[in-house]
Amino acid sequence: MPMQSIDPTTGQILEGFEPIGSAALEDAIASAAAAAGPWSARPVAERAGRLRTVGAHLREHRSDLARVITREMGKLIGEAESEVEKCALVCDYYADQGERLLTDIPIDSDASRSGVVHQPLGVLLAVMPWNFPFWQVFRCAAPALVAGNALLLKHASNVPRCALAIERIFGESGLPEGLFKTLLIESGRVADLIADPRVRGVSLTGSEAAGRAVAEAAGRHLKKSLLELGGSDAFVVLEDADLDHAVETALRSRFMNAGQSCIAAKRFIPVRSVADDFTQRLLAAIRELRPGDPLDPETTLAPMAREDLREELHRQVQDSLDAGARLLTGGHPLDQPGWFYAPTLLDGVGPGMPAYSEELFGPVAVVIRAEDEPDALRIANDTRFGLGGSVWTLDTERGERFARAMDCGAAFVNGLVKSDPRLPFGGVKDSGYGRELGAPGIQEFLNAKTLWIG
Ligand code: NDP
Repeated sequence: MPMQSIDPTTGQILEGFEPIGSAALEDAIASAAAAAGPWSARPVAERAGRLRTVGAHLREHRSDLARVITREMGKLIGEAESEVEKCALVCDYYADQGERLLTDIPIDSDASRSGVVHQPLGVLLAVMPWNFPFWQVFRCAAPALVAGNALLLKHASNVPRCALAIERIFGESGLPEGLFKTLLIESGRVADLIADPRVRGVSLTGSEAAGRAVAEAAGRHLKKSLLELGGSDAFVVLEDADLDHAVETALRSRFMNAGQSCIAAKRFIPVRSVADDFTQRLLAAIRELRPGDPLDPETTLAPMAREDLREELHRQVQDSLDAGARLLTGGHPLDQPGWFYAPTLLDGVGPGMPAYSEELFGPVAVVIRAEDEPDALRIANDTRFGLGGSVWTLDTERGERFARAMDCGAAFVNGLVKSDPRLPFGGVKDSGYGRELGAPGIQEFLNAKTLWIG
């Protein structure tokens, strides 16, 4: 069966799902299209109220939903609970801000009255990944729905239970029938869906390959698209950094979600004077990680989500070692059931190694040593990715100068790179285009329509 829920902790198949047929797919598109018009005609306050109910529903069922996430893609139960809470927060944010963000903007011109009014595009398609199986969907859905759009979800094939649970949440929160629909379909059917004239836009979070395929189809059919792709965020440690804070954050950023986050710190770039100290402290912290059952609150390292993802990570580690990287710890799959990978630290990483130039989507920390601050900036920007990045220094003005020079969509000074419903999120270069969250996040799938009255 192409869609299976498999427990990454044990490798056991939990449930198989048949993809929906073409008649059911047609029904779903038609229902979404039928629901979109009346929904967009409702006052913003009413749509916002529904989203607030969705948030309350998420909170009410947080523990059960977190278990669905953990069983299906393996993340630590505490992280799954936080993820569900964050989904409620993004519903609250757009429920609170919807009226302000969607209000008409008067603009003086040669008209007696002119300006911009905001109107939804109609039916949107969300193609989403498994790593934050709730959050990625909700950060797309909350602004899209408050704006008055309808949404079809094509979720990753390894998280069908999450996909169906999300659909249930919207249904049980009183959203109109058909407005949010999960489509259990393979990725090969996405291009046809984008081609459908009723689908007006597509948002994808995932790999570059999926991004290119979706953008190509969207371009061919002149549909609006948004891509949130991979990253290889730099984590730059200058000589005056607070090393305790930096190391504690480095560990969290790299190993949370078993390292499977687009904005995880993937390249640690300490300057020469602190490189040994930083690396040794990070090594000591990594050695404390305890892989195990993600439902056990004592566990600190989760399994990876799929076996093929672990194989690919291991290939990247081995190729980097062959090319001259130094292995300080880990570097192999764990010899136990499930898809655990030993928490790994590679030092002496440089150009020509996958660990330097590719995204490592798993529990592998990479140290690329820099001479000084200019060299650290050069290395930080020496990547085709441009999602996030952070710099660590006690001199916040220096940190701000550095952060402004980083070629990425989100630069943090002395902080964990994270998404926040209030702040825009997205990348440059091969990390994609468009912005989610904050005010730009609701504008992506709106018609900012000029109204001119003589
Ligand atoms: P994919 O990009 O393949 O999956 C993400 C979503 O895209 C899924 O719903 C998938 O469906 C769909 N998809 C895949 N190929 C196509 C296509 N040609 N046309 C339309 N939709 C498509 O990610 P993987 O799960 O394979 O992970 C591989 C790598 O991608 C990771 O190692 C990581 O580097 C990166 N990634 C980045 C994420 C991020 O947050 N930016 C999230 C997940 C992965 P289906 O599952 O049915 O194939």
